[in-house]
Amino acid sequence: MCNYNTVDTKLYAILGGTFDPIHYGHLHLANSLIKKLSLSKIIFMPNHIPPHRPQPKASAKQRVAMIKYAIENNALFAVDELELKKTTPSYTIETLKTIRKHITPEQPLAFIVGQDVLLTLSTWHQWQSLIDYCHLVICQRPGYHKDIREKQLLDWFTQHHTNKVSLLHQQPHGYIYPADIPVLSISATEIRQRCANGLQYNKLLPNAVHQYILQHHLYR
Ligand code: ATP
Repeated sequence: MCNYNTVDTKLYAILGGTFDPIHYGHLHLANSLIKKLSLSKIIFMPNHIPPHRPQPKASAKQRVAMIKYAIENNALFAVDELELKKTTPSYTIETLKTIRKHITPEQPLAFIVGQDVLLTLSTWHQWQSLIDYCHLVICQRPGYHKDIREKQLLDWFTQHHTNKVSLLHQQPHGYIYPADIPVLSISATEIRQRCANGLQYNKLLPNAVHQYILQHHLYR
Protein backbone atom coordinates (compact mmCIF):
# COMPACT_ATOMS: atom_id res chain seq x y z
CA MET A 1 0.00 0.00 0.00
CA CYS A 2 1.18 3.54 -0.74
CA ASN A 3 2.23 5.51 2.28
CA TYR A 4 -0.83 7.75 2.18
CA ASN A 5 0.28 9.78 5.17
CA THR A 6 3.22 11.15 3.29
CA VAL A 7 1.44 11.66 -0.03
CA ASP A 8 0.28 15.19 0.64
CA THR A 9 -2.30 17.28 2.38
CA LYS A 10 -3.53 18.62 -0.97
CA LEU A 11 -6.20 17.02 -3.13
CA TYR A 12 -5.05 13.83 -4.82
CA ALA A 13 -6.91 11.16 -6.72
CA ILE A 14 -7.16 7.44 -7.25
CA LEU A 15 -7.70 5.92 -10.68
CA GLY A 16 -9.00 2.38 -10.31
CA GLY A 17 -9.19 -0.07 -13.18
CA THR A 18 -8.16 -3.37 -14.65
CA PHE A 19 -5.28 -1.86 -16.66
CA ASP A 20 -5.12 -4.90 -18.94
CA PRO A 21 -3.02 -3.16 -20.27
CA ILE A 22 -2.53 0.47 -19.19
CA HIS A 23 -2.67 2.75 -22.26
CA TYR A 24 -2.45 6.37 -23.41
CA GLY A 25 -6.18 6.81 -22.71
CA HIS A 26 -5.46 6.33 -18.99
CA LEU A 27 -2.26 8.41 -19.05
CA HIS A 28 -3.77 11.28 -21.02
CA LEU A 29 -6.74 11.31 -18.64
CA ALA A 30 -4.43 11.36 -15.61
CA ASN A 31 -2.23 14.15 -17.03
CA SER A 32 -5.25 16.27 -17.95
CA LEU A 33 -6.81 15.85 -14.51
CA ILE A 34 -3.56 16.73 -12.73
CA LYS A 35 -3.67 20.09 -14.54
CA LYS A 36 -7.41 20.72 -14.51
CA LEU A 37 -7.91 19.88 -10.83
CA SER A 38 -4.43 20.91 -9.58
CA LEU A 39 -3.98 17.43 -8.14
CA SER A 40 -0.84 16.72 -6.14
CA LYS A 41 -0.78 13.08 -7.27
CA ILE A 42 -2.69 10.32 -9.06
CA ILE A 43 -2.53 6.81 -7.68
CA PHE A 44 -3.24 3.97 -10.12
CA MET A 45 -5.07 1.18 -8.31
CA PRO A 46 -5.34 -2.07 -10.29
CA ASN A 47 -8.33 -4.25 -9.37
CA HIS A 48 -8.24 -7.72 -7.94
CA ILE A 49 -10.70 -9.70 -10.04
CA PRO A 50 -12.45 -12.40 -8.03
CA PRO A 51 -11.90 -15.94 -9.39
CA HIS A 52 -15.54 -16.40 -10.45
CA ARG A 53 -15.43 -13.37 -12.80
CA PRO A 54 -13.85 -13.28 -16.28
CA GLN A 55 -10.15 -12.89 -15.60
CA PRO A 56 -7.87 -10.28 -17.16
CA LYS A 57 -5.60 -11.72 -19.83
CA ALA A 58 -2.48 -10.50 -18.02
CA SER A 59 -1.75 -11.61 -14.44
CA ALA A 60 -1.94 -9.16 -11.55
CA LYS A 61 1.86 -9.09 -11.46
CA GLN A 62 2.04 -8.31 -15.17
CA ARG A 63 -0.61 -5.57 -14.95
CA VAL A 64 1.35 -3.92 -12.13
CA ALA A 65 4.62 -4.24 -14.04
CA MET A 66 3.07 -2.52 -17.06
CA ILE A 67 1.70 0.31 -14.90
CA LYS A 68 5.16 0.78 -13.35
CA TYR A 69 6.78 1.02 -16.79
CA ALA A 70 4.13 3.47 -17.96
CA ILE A 71 4.50 5.85 -15.00
CA GLU A 72 8.22 5.49 -14.24
CA ASN A 73 9.15 8.97 -15.47
CA ASN A 74 6.33 10.83 -13.78
CA ALA A 75 6.83 11.79 -10.14
CA LEU A 76 3.14 12.73 -9.86
CA PHE A 77 1.99 9.17 -10.58
CA ALA A 78 2.13 6.19 -8.21
CA VAL A 79 0.73 2.67 -8.11
CA ASP A 80 -0.97 1.04 -5.14
CA GLU A 81 -1.30 -2.75 -4.99
CA LEU A 82 -3.70 -2.64 -2.04
CA GLU A 83 -6.57 -4.39 -3.86
CA LEU A 84 -4.30 -6.99 -5.45
CA LYS A 85 -2.95 -8.05 -2.08
CA LYS A 86 -6.43 -9.06 -0.93
CA THR A 87 -7.85 -12.51 -1.55
CA THR A 88 -11.45 -11.37 -1.24
CA PRO A 89 -13.37 -9.19 -3.75
CA SER A 90 -12.15 -5.64 -3.57
CA TYR A 91 -15.20 -3.45 -3.29
CA THR A 92 -14.21 0.15 -3.92
CA ILE A 93 -16.03 1.25 -0.78
CA GLU A 94 -13.83 -1.07 1.32
CA THR A 95 -10.69 0.24 -0.39
CA LEU A 96 -11.75 3.81 0.35
CA LYS A 97 -12.47 2.95 3.99
CA THR A 98 -9.00 1.40 4.31
CA ILE A 99 -7.35 4.48 2.79
CA ARG A 100 -9.37 6.81 5.02
CA LYS A 101 -7.97 4.97 8.08
CA HIS A 102 -4.49 6.07 7.00
CA ILE A 103 -5.21 9.73 6.29
CA THR A 104 -6.61 12.62 8.27
CA PRO A 105 -10.39 13.27 8.13
CA GLU A 106 -9.64 16.65 6.50
CA GLN A 107 -7.60 15.19 3.63
CA PRO A 108 -9.40 15.82 0.31
CA LEU A 109 -9.49 12.67 -1.78
CA ALA A 110 -10.98 11.99 -5.22
CA PHE A 111 -11.78 8.79 -7.07
CA ILE A 112 -11.77 8.99 -10.88
CA VAL A 113 -14.17 7.02 -13.04
CA GLY A 114 -15.07 7.13 -16.71
CA GLN A 115 -18.62 7.77 -17.88
CA ASP A 116 -18.86 4.04 -18.73
CA VAL A 117 -18.31 3.26 -15.06
CA LEU A 118 -20.73 5.95 -13.84
CA LEU A 119 -23.56 4.49 -15.90
CA THR A 120 -23.31 1.18 -14.01
CA LEU A 121 -22.32 2.65 -10.65
CA SER A 122 -25.61 1.70 -9.02
CA THR A 123 -24.57 -1.96 -9.28
CA TRP A 124 -21.59 -1.27 -6.99
CA HIS A 125 -21.64 -2.32 -3.37
CA GLN A 126 -22.88 0.60 -1.20
CA TRP A 127 -22.53 2.96 -4.15
CA GLN A 128 -24.34 5.85 -2.50
CA SER A 129 -21.83 5.83 0.37
CA LEU A 130 -18.81 6.24 -1.93
CA ILE A 131 -18.94 10.02 -1.54
CA ASP A 132 -18.80 9.67 2.26
CA TYR A 133 -15.14 8.81 1.68
CA CYS A 134 -14.12 10.66 -1.50
CA HIS A 135 -15.22 13.00 -4.25
CA LEU A 136 -16.08 11.32 -7.53
CA VAL A 137 -14.55 12.75 -10.68
CA ILE A 138 -16.39 11.63 -13.80
CA CYS A 139 -14.73 11.71 -17.22
CA GLN A 140 -16.38 11.43 -20.59
CA ARG A 141 -15.65 8.35 -22.61
CA PRO A 142 -16.15 8.23 -26.38
CA GLY A 143 -18.83 5.74 -27.35
CA TYR A 144 -20.86 6.01 -24.13
CA HIS A 145 -24.01 8.09 -23.88
CA LYS A 146 -23.74 11.13 -21.68
CA ASP A 147 -27.17 10.93 -20.09
CA ILE A 148 -27.86 8.98 -16.96
CA ARG A 149 -31.13 7.18 -17.56
CA GLU A 150 -31.60 5.50 -14.21
CA LYS A 151 -33.68 7.74 -11.93
CA GLN A 152 -32.08 6.84 -8.60
CA LEU A 153 -28.60 7.38 -10.01
CA LEU A 154 -29.64 10.63 -11.71
CA ASP A 155 -31.21 12.01 -8.49
CA TRP A 156 -28.07 11.17 -6.53
CA PHE A 157 -25.87 12.74 -9.21
CA THR A 158 -28.02 15.90 -9.35
CA GLN A 159 -27.97 16.26 -5.59
CA HIS A 160 -24.20 16.01 -5.19
CA HIS A 161 -22.71 17.30 -8.40
CA THR A 162 -20.61 20.45 -8.62
CA ASN A 163 -18.67 22.26 -11.31
CA LYS A 164 -16.45 24.06 -8.79
CA VAL A 165 -12.96 22.63 -8.50
CA SER A 166 -12.43 24.76 -5.37
CA LEU A 167 -15.02 22.68 -3.48
CA LEU A 168 -13.04 19.52 -4.17
CA HIS A 169 -10.06 21.13 -2.46
CA GLN A 170 -11.99 22.65 0.42
CA GLN A 171 -14.00 19.57 1.40
CA PRO A 172 -12.51 16.12 2.07
CA HIS A 173 -15.31 14.25 0.21
CA GLY A 174 -18.95 14.51 -0.84
CA TYR A 175 -18.99 15.98 -4.36
CA ILE A 176 -19.40 14.56 -7.85
CA TYR A 177 -17.45 16.55 -10.41
CA PRO A 178 -18.00 15.94 -14.14
CA ALA A 179 -14.60 16.79 -15.63
CA ASP A 180 -14.97 18.28 -19.07
CA ILE A 181 -11.67 17.18 -20.54
CA PRO A 182 -10.87 15.76 -23.96
CA VAL A 183 -10.25 12.03 -23.75
CA LEU A 184 -8.65 9.68 -26.23
CA SER A 185 -10.68 7.06 -27.97
CA ILE A 186 -8.54 4.13 -26.80
CA SER A 187 -9.57 1.08 -24.81
CA ALA A 188 -7.68 -1.91 -23.46
CA THR A 189 -10.21 -4.11 -25.26
CA GLU A 190 -9.17 -2.59 -28.59
CA ILE A 191 -5.48 -3.13 -27.77
CA ARG A 192 -6.03 -6.79 -26.82
CA GLN A 193 -8.06 -7.36 -29.98
CA ARG A 194 -5.50 -5.67 -32.23
CA CYS A 195 -2.74 -7.69 -30.61
CA ALA A 196 -4.62 -10.97 -31.04
CA ASN A 197 -5.29 -10.14 -34.69
CA GLY A 198 -1.70 -9.14 -35.43
CA LEU A 199 -2.63 -5.48 -36.01
CA GLN A 200 -0.54 -2.49 -34.91
CA TYR A 201 -1.29 -1.02 -31.51
CA ASN A 202 2.10 0.43 -30.51
CA LYS A 203 0.88 4.01 -30.87
CA LEU A 204 -1.81 3.42 -28.24
CA LEU A 205 0.54 2.86 -25.30
CA PRO A 206 4.07 3.72 -24.09
CA ASN A 207 6.93 1.90 -25.80
CA ALA A 208 8.08 0.24 -22.56
CA VAL A 209 4.60 -1.30 -22.13
CA HIS A 210 4.60 -2.43 -25.75
CA GLN A 211 7.99 -4.10 -25.27
CA TYR A 212 6.73 -5.81 -22.09
CA ILE A 213 3.70 -7.19 -23.96
CA LEU A 214 5.97 -8.56 -26.69
CA GLN A 215 8.47 -10.09 -24.26
CA HIS A 216 5.75 -11.81 -22.24
CA HIS A 217 3.71 -12.93 -25.27
CA LEU A 218 0.59 -11.27 -23.87
CA TYR A 219 -2.78 -10.97 -25.63
CA ARG A 220 -1.92 -13.36 -28.46
P1 ATP B 1 -11.37 -2.55 -21.03
O1 ATP B 1 -11.45 -2.15 -22.49
O2 ATP B 1 -10.62 -3.83 -20.79
O3 ATP B 1 -12.71 -2.52 -20.35
P2 ATP B 1 -10.44 0.10 -20.30
O4 ATP B 1 -9.65 0.60 -21.46
O5 ATP B 1 -11.83 0.63 -20.12
O6 ATP B 1 -10.44 -1.48 -20.29
P3 ATP B 1 -9.93 0.12 -17.48
O7 ATP B 1 -8.69 -0.37 -16.83
O8 ATP B 1 -11.13 -0.70 -17.30
O9 ATP B 1 -9.58 0.37 -19.03
O10 ATP B 1 -10.21 1.63 -17.07
C1 ATP B 1 -9.92 2.18 -15.82
C2 ATP B 1 -10.61 3.55 -15.73
O11 ATP B 1 -10.10 4.41 -16.75
C3 ATP B 1 -12.13 3.49 -15.92
O12 ATP B 1 -12.72 4.44 -15.05
C4 ATP B 1 -12.30 3.90 -17.37
O13 ATP B 1 -13.56 4.51 -17.60
C5 ATP B 1 -11.17 4.90 -17.56
N1 ATP B 1 -10.68 4.93 -18.93
C6 ATP B 1 -10.17 3.92 -19.63
N2 ATP B 1 -9.82 4.31 -20.87
C7 ATP B 1 -10.11 5.62 -20.95
C8 ATP B 1 -10.00 6.61 -21.99
N3 ATP B 1 -9.53 6.33 -23.18
N4 ATP B 1 -10.39 7.86 -21.69
C9 ATP B 1 -10.90 8.15 -20.48
N5 ATP B 1 -11.04 7.28 -19.46
C10 ATP B 1 -10.66 6.02 -19.69
